[in-house]
Amino acid sequence: MRLLMVAPPGAGKGTQAARLASHYGMAHLSSGELLREEVAAGSEIGRDVAAYLERGDLVPDEVVIEILTKPVLDAVEHGGYVLDGFPRTLRQAEEAHRVAKQVEGIELQAVVHLAVGHDEVRRRLLARARREGRSDDTGTTIAHRLEVFDAQTRPLLAYYAGRGLVVDIDGEQPVEKVFADIVDALDSLRAGRR
Ligand code: AMP
Repeated sequence: MRLLMVAPPGAGKGTQAARLASHYGMAHLSSGELLREEVAAGSEIGRDVAAYLERGDLVPDEVVIEILTKPVLDAVEHGGYVLDGFPRTLRQAEEAHRVAKQVEGIELQAVVHLAVGHDEVRRRLLARARREGRSDDTGTTIAHRLEVFDAQTRPLLAYYAGRGLVVDIDGEQPVEKVFADIVDALDSLRAGRR
């Protein structure tokens, strides 16, 4: 299966993507995680993007496209992918769609939108900060990342809805229930397409 998770920071997209990946046997590709690995490794890309991550700004489209293209192409050979955090701008989505149209069997099949209100994501991100100490989980950076999500990523939902791909899930429920709702929605989608 080939999926994209769209949700504000802290809505649980990483958690749900990991579970979906093992449930359906596909690769979990997290753009944020791949970028943090570049920063930790001190690579050239890592040095270029570190300040963006620290501020909670999006890194330039070209960088994420470069980092994600090969893992996506590899994943389609091995059970598919769940994309967690990419595409995150309309430009990235249009570029990914342009490439996908040229290669058979790599295009997205569904976009899972986890709806979680700002108050709840703020609460979860502050809890994650205490638990994991991620450097972009601080009060001001969290507020900025939510603004970035609303301005640059939320418009993807209308774009993908126009292509009939969006599955809306109430992400404020307990983790198990969110997972069960996603699996139900995806399984009915697949049954409907058979
Ligand atoms: P995440 O782990 O998804 O919360 O992403 C952490 C950070 O990585 C974001 O705040 C951005 O700085 C960067 N990032 C992740 N994915 C993308 C993307 N698709 N485009 C631009 N920046 C990204």
